[in-house]
Amino acid sequence: MHDYSPNHHLDPRAPLVLDTRDLPRRPGALRAVRRSVPAPEDLGLELIGVPQGADLDLDLRLESVSEGVLVSGTITAPVKGECGRCLRPIGDTLTVPIQELYAYEHSTTDETTEEDEVGRLQGDLFDLEPALRDGVVLALPANPLCREDCPGLCPECGVHWDELPADHSHRQVDPRWAALSNLNDPIDQAPTEQARAARGPDHEEN
Ligand SMILES: [Zn+2]
Ligand SMILES: [Zn+2]
Repeated sequence: MHDYSPNHHLDPRAPLVLDTRDLPRRPGALRAVRRSVPAPEDLGLELIGVPQGADLDLDLRLESVSEGVLVSGTITAPVKGECGRCLRPIGDTLTVPIQELYAYEHSTTDETTEEDEVGRLQGDLFDLEPALRDGVVLALPANPLCREDCPGLCPECGVHWDELPADHSHRQVDPRWAALSNLNDPIDQAPTEQARAARGPDHEEN
C-alpha cells in the first residue's frame, strides 16, 4: 500500500525522515517525538488537502520492539479545500492516527516481508511520509462539503441556491428544451434522400 522506494537513500535532513539514534535497541525502550515540520507537496486529494509548507504537528511515540521500531501517535495538520457542490472554500483541522512498524535491516521481518507491507529502517533512519500520506488520504472526505445539506449551485446561472428565491427557475429560457426538440426532427435521413433524387435515375459515375 505504501509507496516505498527500496533503493532510495533517505536524507536525514528531510522533514519527515526521523532518526532513531537516541532510541536504545532494547525492546521496551521508548522515546517521544514532538515537533512541527512543513507539509510536503500534494498531500491530500483533488478537492481538499494539506497546503504545502503548512505545519504538521507530530506527536509520536517510538518504541523499540524485537523486530524494529514501532511508531504510534498522531499527526495534526490544517486542511484547505473547496465544497464539491458549491466550490465555497473549506478549512478544517485534521488529526491522523499513525501506527507503523519500521523493521530493522536484516531482521526476520526485513527478510520475510515486502517493503510495501512493512516499513524499513535505513540504518537509524525511517521515512514517515508514506504512512502519513496513506493516513491523510484515508481521513479526508472524497467529496468534501461546506455543510452536510449544501444545496449546491443552480446549474443554469451558477448562483448558490441559498442566495436565490425559493421559486427561482429558468423554465422560459431553458436552452435544454430547444436542444431536445431539434433531436426529434428527422433531419438525418432527409438530405441524403433528397440528394439521391436530385441526381436522377440515369446518373452514372465513371
Ligand atoms: Zn457547499
Ligand atoms: Zn439559476
